[in-house]
Amino acid sequence: MVTIAHEQVRKDWDTYFMDIAYMVSTRSRCPRRHVGSVLVQGKKLLGTAYNGAPMGVSDCSEAGCMIVEEFELKIVDDVEQVTKKQRCIRTIHAEQNLLLFTDRIDREGSTVYVTDQPCWTCANMLANSGVREIVFHRSYPKDSEKVITLMAQKGITFRQLDGYSPPEQAGVSVIS
Ligand SMILES: [Zn+2]
Ligand SMILES: [Zn+2]
Repeated sequence: MVTIAHEQVRKDWDTYFMDIAYMVSTRSRCPRRHVGSVLVQGKKLLGTAYNGAPMGVSDCSEAGCMIVEEFELKIVDDVEQVTKKQRCIRTIHAEQNLLLFTDRIDREGSTVYVTDQPCWTCANMLANSGVREIVFHRSYPKDSEKVITLMAQKGITFRQLDGYSPPEQAGVSVIS
């Protein structure tokens, strides 16, 4: 007789789509950060993308990351503050690739699941893309405040998944 010890608990939609985003992120070849994103319309998966160099062009694993430093000026209590940021510009970010690979009509009213909180540039593009909801897992504090403000202005639901753990096969690692 075959007995099944326990039926595995069925995954909720958030977990289901974030798991897919994490599996997509494993295609990335940038050692600094592996990001995956998926486009979902009415529980249907309409696109997947990860951060990477344009197709047919050497990626970070072959040519090394292309690191730039940026300085952002902010005025806090009438005092100028400069924040330094380092990032790899060889790759097109996952969210931007997702926009390149999907049609506007499919994005209207859709949800994007992305492993990492979008940076300012990606958030700005997503805000103009027809997407109505963005769900992310890992925080990206450097741009968080202004991204949250932007999403509120646009009326886009912006939420972080709490109590979520990425699938083991994703081999998650982050260097910030
Ligand atoms: Zn890189
Ligand atoms: Zn980005």
